[in-house]
Amino acid sequence: MPSAHSRQQRLADLRHRLTNPQDAYERCRVYPCTNGTTADRGEGLNRLYCRKHIEFYRRHGSYVKRSYGAGELRPYRAGALAWLRAHGDDQSVRLAIAGVRRLYGAAGAPVEAFRLPGKSPGERARAIWAQLRKREVDPLEVLAAWLVVDLRLRDDPQPDRHDEYRRVQVAKLIHRMAGGTHKRWERDRVDGRTEVTELHKHPVSRGRVLRIVGEDTAFACEHLRID
Ligand SMILES: [Zn+2]
Repeated sequence: MPSAHSRQQRLADLRHRLTNPQDAYERCRVYPCTNGTTADRGEGLNRLYCRKHIEFYRRHGSYVKRSYGAGELRPYRAGALAWLRAHGDDQSVRLAIAGVRRLYGAAGAPVEAFRLPGKSPGERARAIWAQLRKREVDPLEVLAAWLVVDLRLRDDPQPDRHDEYRRVQVAKLIHRMAGGTHKRWERDRVDGRTEVTELHKHPVSRGRVLRIVGEDTAFACEHLRID
């Protein structure tokens, strides 16, 4: 039989919840966000995070840390590629290249961009590898993407060390390599010069597809590391 004290405590908790219904599902866990969780707002089943932070996580692989910008990662690329070329005979490099070639080989036929919406994340992940194969992207570039993110994380004074963040960052780079739609128009102007208009459209980079591409890459590259 519960003691009088614990019974009293439970009654107090119940009274508190009835008078503060917001506490039922609490606030978003991200400090100092004050939004209610989606469950609290009746918008979903997530009892830990608000809608804004769920979307942030889908895009960046972290609830608090933004994705690295292209400018933050670019300085590492040349060094990573040079290291890979100098270590082409290393077992870890050879295995990683073979792993990427397997991904290219197992990806099936490329899918037209306009057919991608509605496909499952797994199908969209394979379409990214198929696109890399079609564009003849050197597997070393995929290995370099893995290393670039590793080097940046090692230099970052405030890194997110979760596998999730690392994988999403690598997948974003690979997703970019797969391209998007690029159009270019030239128009002759009256003054004799040529006006060039370019349109670059990349499919939105977020969600489960990034996790799958990130896992694929991690599986191929997990032993790759510049010491
Ligand atoms: Zn939030």
